[in-house]
Amino acid sequence: MLRSVILAAARSARVERLVETAPLSRDVVRRFVAGTDTAAALGVTRQLADAGLAVTLDNLGEDTVTPEQAQATRDEYERLLGALAEAELTGVAEVSLKLSALGQRFDEKLAYDHAYAICVAASAAGTTVTLDMEDHTTTDSTLEVLARLREDFPTTGAVLQAYLRRTEDDCRELAKDGSRVRLCKGAYKEPEAVAYQSALDIDLSYVRCMNILMSGPGYPMLATHDPRLIAIGEDRAKWFERAADTFEFQMLYGVRDGEQRRLAEQGYVVRTYVPYGTEWYGYMMRRLAEKPANMALFLRALSSR
Ligand code: FAD
Repeated sequence: MLRSVILAAARSARVERLVETAPLSRDVVRRFVAGTDTAAALGVTRQLADAGLAVTLDNLGEDTVTPEQAQATRDEYERLLGALAEAELTGVAEVSLKLSALGQRFDEKLAYDHAYAICVAASAAGTTVTLDMEDHTTTDSTLEVLARLREDFPTTGAVLQAYLRRTEDDCRELAKDGSRVRLCKGAYKEPEAVAYQSALDIDLSYVRCMNILMSGPGYPMLATHDPRLIAIGEDRAKWFERAADTFEFQMLYGVRDGEQRRLAEQGYVVRTYVPYGTEWYGYMMRRLAEKPANMALFLRALSSR
């Protein structure tokens, strides 16, 4: 119930204005978001790399409604990739991007063209791109763009969401040689017709999808903070005799930092998803929806203004 309310607020411009004008919300935002500009993103990447973690960087922005905004997003990714190369961080950092930030909602070809240009920049910098997955109305379009990008950039990664009923089939489709698939539970409010609703059903789907990916020839990226799923991931790695460099665990910046370091110290590849940028509102509200304790922290910060 609380999750539905917060996810609805994530789409409300009125609530967004209220939150953005609350000065102390910045402290809470900083827990999950690296900062507003490229320099801040690079600084956090360096810190995480020093702690033995790999990184994927996400320039926040999902309400792109004009070609100018889409172009600005592409420009920022190109700038970021150049800066990562210059700082010699492309060995540890890749980028994640949302096609909606590149114009997918109003011009799919434009989004593809921008994504292609970002893949060119990533390849020149010596790293790669993973396409985030958004609500279910965009899944087919995102997977089509992915397939086309992979023709020229075969390491381009995709995200699949275990809460969608279709995802086991998508896993089978994508569990191919060299194919990088980030498996997460899914963060959007989806109707029952397309998505499992109970935590148990979503977890069971996650395990079925993980079995498909971990037993296949691709490169699974297990994106979860759930201790039981992480333990099952470790178990499957042993069972399917996967070398440490053939899969990875992934978690969000600011969430279970100690666990990220613990897994890295055990020799696993652990990648932290680091968002940065000025458009943090939708991202942060989804994080709050995931854990009521985060909401309490946020409300405390607002009420102590
Ligand atoms: P949960 O059951 O939500 O959490 C398990 C436990 O983890 C909780 O009990 C708590 O201890 C801890 N935890 C989880 N979330 C938080 C939090 N916010 N703050 C503090 N503790 C927390 N979703 C998409 O829909 N599309 C994407 O492209 C996408 N990309 C992602 C990329 C990465 C690298 C990661 C890690 C997640 C991504 N997600 C994406 C979000 C994902 O779908 C889930 O919403 C999110 O990861 C929470 O699910 P969970 O597996 O951690 O399990």
